[in-house]
Amino acid sequence: MPTADEIDAPPAIRSRLRKLGIERPDDLVLHLPLRYEDETRVTPIAEAPVGWPVQVEAVVLDVALRQAPRRQLVARVSDAGGEGSTLFLRFLSFYGSQKSGLEAARDAGRRLRIFGEIRDGFLGREMVHPRYRFLSDDENGGESDVDALPPSLTPVYPSTAGLAQGTLRRLIARALRAADLAELLADGWREQHALPSLPAAVAFLHSPPPAVDESALQARAHPAWRRIKFDELLAQQLALRRLSLARRRQGAPVLAVAGELARRLQAALPFALTGAQRRVAAEIATDLEQAHPMQRLLQGDVGCGKTIVAALAACQAIEAGYQTAFMAPTEILAEQHYSKLRAWLEPLGIEVSWLAGSLGGKARQAKRQQVATSAQLVVGTHALIQESIDFARLGLAIVDEQHRFGVVQRLELRRKGVNPHQLMMSATPIPRTLAMSYYADLDVSVIDELPPGRSPVKTRLFSDTRRAEVIAAVRAVVAGGRQAYWVCPLVEESAKLELQAALDTWAALTAELSDLRVGLVHGRLKGDEKASVMAAFVAGEIDVLVATTVIEVGVDVANASLMVIEHAERFGLSQLHQLRGRVGRGAEESVCVLLYQQPLSRTARARLKIIFEHTDGFEIARQDLRLRGPGEFIGSRQSGVPLLRYADLESDADLVELAQQMAVQWLRNDPERVGRHLRRWFGQREELLRA
Ligand code: ADP
Ligand code: MG
Repeated sequence: MPTADEIDAPPAIRSRLRKLGIERPDDLVLHLPLRYEDETRVTPIAEAPVGWPVQVEAVVLDVALRQAPRRQLVARVSDAGGEGSTLFLRFLSFYGSQKSGLEAARDAGRRLRIFGEIRDGFLGREMVHPRYRFLSDDENGGESDVDALPPSLTPVYPSTAGLAQGTLRRLIARALRAADLAELLADGWREQHALPSLPAAVAFLHSPPPAVDESALQARAHPAWRRIKFDELLAQQLALRRLSLARRRQGAPVLAVAGELARRLQAALPFALTGAQRRVAAEIATDLEQAHPMQRLLQGDVGCGKTIVAALAACQAIEAGYQTAFMAPTEILAEQHYSKLRAWLEPLGIEVSWLAGSLGGKARQAKRQQVATSAQLVVGTHALIQESIDFARLGLAIVDEQHRFGVVQRLELRRKGVNPHQLMMSATPIPRTLAMSYYADLDVSVIDELPPGRSPVKTRLFSDTRRAEVIAAVRAVVAGGRQAYWVCPLVEESAKLELQAALDTWAALTAELSDLRVGLVHGRLKGDEKASVMAAFVAGEIDVLVATTVIEVGVDVANASLMVIEHAERFGLSQLHQLRGRVGRGAEESVCVLLYQQPLSRTARARLKIIFEHTDGFEIARQDLRLRGPGEFIGSRQSGVPLLRYADLESDADLVELAQQMAVQWLRNDPERVGRHLRRWFGQREELLRA
């Protein structure tokens, strides 16, 4: 016997439901239609529009098997004698029983109720693969109950293979009858915001009356939809905020120090911190002195100088006698951080260690030993958390380019049983509504100022028919003593093809620029090979670095002043922005050339226009959100939060704000209500949000 919290259905059905995220009757109740079909009325064939789903009733005139162009079953039906009242039903795949059924209906003059879309076909007006059923005995012109037209629109639910709409509808209707949809919002407040009650909204969306404004339903702008979206956003806010409150109750080492190491580091720098850097560094320093773990996101555009801020935080942890882990998403980037941080910190007597997946067995063993004991700062890729590495006294974990890591990795760190302060850094600015929604449990610091003396990067768009001009520009740059990046085409479908494209590009450029030193770096190189190519580029021994997107994040070579991106139309906006940020790091004017191939798709054209017109990462992210929608922007893998199913962060921004206010109130005053709402929306799945 299923318990009240289980769905009463065979195991095979239950497992298919699980694929849709449906575990409990409550999940069925909140599984809302994608769209509706209007089976509430019957349209005369002669009046039925083309290209629109309609329901008709007709008798079968004849049934035939045709062979050309392929085997198909064709039935001609009609609902009146007159002009335009016949219709062909065409089935490209069918059972033999379908043919005999239709023939029997023809012989008996039995009526069919047919639902589908009419189009103008080869034979005349036709429906391809319509849904149909035989009406019960029609002899007396009367209709029996089973043939009564439904009083409301027929919902079409998101489904999965092997789960028929009929089954879903039945299960959902049953769950609705048993559901406890007790209203949790105050009536006055609801009315003030024009939100219907929950039972009303749910009932309405599962079976709207035929007279409803279909466009508002479809656009999910109907008040019933807004109510559901509000509840969904509220559940998300509650879960995230409760999590953040729980985090505040956990203990973390208090890293209160005199600040000697940080002072010495700053004194040794060849530059002064910008005002923004000083401000965020102070915010972080204060967090580290608290007895609960910091969870701070440090946001700042490419090149704004986040690394030094992180190094200052590391100094604080180290001075307090704790270790710091510094993680980067790629080995190249980790390597760069390693050499930079060593240069900064070793003169202060700090022991800096390196750990990456490519380290061989023996070396790794030794590193592990060092991490377990003496290392004060450990730099590496996520090998740092993936492996069974036991930090002796981990006080601070820094995660660079946070958007590249999944929340899963954040989780792993927590599961290690350590509870360090966490500083996450990202150059991909997160638009406000997204931040409010997905990062409700993070504090955010923003560096909104670039170091002085940077010249903005000029962006130029070139069709690839003008490649020769670009080659000439590369020559000119190198002749002036500068260096260039040449980014290879992205081949999303296949890493192998992408590698081939990189090798081809490199071969072509080596031939075209035979008097220059052309290097190549790509993702398939071993760690030390990559490192040595990068080192040669940093040292100026390579003029032109041909690269795949391994250089996308964080690479820092100030003498490089030209960036060429081949097939720029294939890249995403944030990728283009990150890549462009690799130049313009010195005082001299830098250029980013976007080579594209015609014809451009509409969105590719829109992307190139945005990147051409904007240099501000924040604005680019906002436009990106507009272009792609938040789901793709953040990616469920990255957010770790199940994507909002119904609410849209851009168009429902007002609801996000309302939900946030309500969540704060409930958490303060009404924990019991919080629990009920979260159980309704997530059941046991709230675990998913624990990241
Ligand atoms: P990002 O925020 O993109 O990670 P980095 O930390 O790599 O940026 O900094 C970019 C470059 O700017 C580095 O070479 C860094 O040493 C330099 N830098 C950082 N802060 C300043 C500053 N206040 N003045 C001058 N240069 C700075
Ligand atoms: Mg960086």
